[in-house]
Amino acid sequence: MRCEVVAVGTELLLGQIVDTNSSWIGEQLALAGIDCLRHTAVGDNPDRIRAALQESLDRSDAVIVTGGLGPTQDDITRDVIAEVMGVEMIRDPNLVEVISSKFKGRGRPMPENNLRQADLPEGATPIKEMPGTAPGLICPVGEKVIYAVPGVPLEMRQMIEGSIIPDLVSRSGEKSVIRSRVLRTWGQSESGLAEMLAEEIKRLDEVEGTTLAFLASGMEGLKVRITAKAPTEQDAEAALDTEESQVRTIIGPLVFGIDDENMETVVLEELVSQGLTLATAESMTGGLIATRLTEVPGSSRAFLGSVVSYANSVKQEILKVPEGPVISEQAVLSMAIGVCEALGADVSVAVTGVAGPDSQEGQEPGVVWIGTCVDGEAKAVEVRFPYNRTMARQLTVITALDILRRRLLERALKN
Ligand code: ATP
Ligand code: MG
Repeated sequence: MRCEVVAVGTELLLGQIVDTNSSWIGEQLALAGIDCLRHTAVGDNPDRIRAALQESLDRSDAVIVTGGLGPTQDDITRDVIAEVMGVEMIRDPNLVEVISSKFKGRGRPMPENNLRQADLPEGATPIKEMPGTAPGLICPVGEKVIYAVPGVPLEMRQMIEGSIIPDLVSRSGEKSVIRSRVLRTWGQSESGLAEMLAEEIKRLDEVEGTTLAFLASGMEGLKVRITAKAPTEQDAEAALDTEESQVRTIIGPLVFGIDDENMETVVLEELVSQGLTLATAESMTGGLIATRLTEVPGSSRAFLGSVVSYANSVKQEILKVPEGPVISEQAVLSMAIGVCEALGADVSVAVTGVAGPDSQEGQEPGVVWIGTCVDGEAKAVEVRFPYNRTMARQLTVITALDILRRRLLERALKN
C-alpha cells in the first residue's frame, strides 16, 4: 500500500503556518507500516489542487489531503475531489441534520455557508469522527482512494487515528509495523560517524528490514536513527535492540542517550545512580550549564548549585584560584576543586575561556578550558571552538557536560 499526503493552504506556501499536519500523518503511516512516498503542499487554487491530487493518485494507492474543507469560498478541496472522481456534488441530508444540531447545541445561529459542508462528492462517505463542523471524507476513485480531512490539527488527528489508518491497514492487507529509535551522539562529525558506520550500513543494505540514517541537529549533536520493519511490534523492538547494540559496539561512548534523552538528563541520571552531588563553576558560560541542568525536573536530587565566577576577584576569593592567567589549565583545575569545596559537592565541572569578540590574555576567541573534579581528582582539557560568541558558549556547555558524563562512566566501571 503506497500512500501520499497533500496539504492544502496558501498560508503553508507563504510560511505563515508550518505544515505539522503532514509530518504527523507521516509518522502515523510509518507506525502503521504503510509506505508514504511523497508529501506535497499546494495553495488554495483549484487547478493546482486537482493536479496535485491527480499526480498523487497516479503514483500511489491512497492520498490523504488535509485542509480546505471549511465552509468558506476559499475552501475548495471537496469540489476539486468531485472533479477528480468525475462526479457531482450532492447534499447529504444526514449531514445537514448533524451540522445544524451542532450549531443548535452551541446556541448559535448557523451561517448559510456552513451547509456547504453537507455537500459531498457523489459516492463519498463521511468519516464518523466529526469534532468540528467539517466532515472528513472517504472518496473511492476506482481501486484507489482519496481521504479528505480538515486542516485543524485536532480534527485531523481524530479522523486519521479513528478511521483512516484502520481503513488503510485493512485495504493493504499489510501486517508489518515500523518502529524507530534515535541514538543521540556527541563528539564526532557527520562524515566521521558515516565513516565509522559505513560497513554496518552496507551490511544492512543487503538485508531486509533495518536501516540507519543520520540526522544533524546542530548544537544538540548528531542523531543516528535506527528504523526496523517487522511483522509484529515485538519483532520490530527486538530488531531495534539488536541494531542498537551493534551500533554501540562500533561508536561506543559517542552515544550519550536515546530518543528523548539529552545531555543534561543523562548526566543527572548518572549522578543520581552513583549517589553523587554536582556543582559548577562557570566563567565564560555565566551559568548556562546550571540553567540547562535545572531545566530538568528533579535536578535537585544531584545538582547543588553554581558559582558564576565571571570576575577574577570571584575566582580568586571564592574558588581560591591563584593569581595569574585565568584562561589556563591551572585556573580551571583550581576552579573545579574550589567549587567542590565551596559548595560541598562530590563532583564538579568548571569552564573558563574567551567568549569573544575580543581576545583575552593574548588568547583567541573560542579558546576554552574545561575542568572536572571527580573523587577529588581534577582534570583539564583545552578545546577550541570556531568563533561566534553564542555558539562558543553553547558548545562549551554541552562539551563540558559530555566530558563529565564520560568521567562518570569511567568511575562506574572502576567501582
Ligand atoms: P476550517 O473549517 O477551519 O476552515 P479547513 O479544513 O478549511 O478547516 P484550513 O482552513 O485549511 O482547514 O485550515 C484551518 C487551520 O488549521 C489553519 O488556520 C491552521 O491553523 C491549521 N492548519 C491547516 N493546515 C495545516 C497544516 N498542514 N499543518 C498544521 N496546521 C494546519
Ligand atoms: Mg478553511
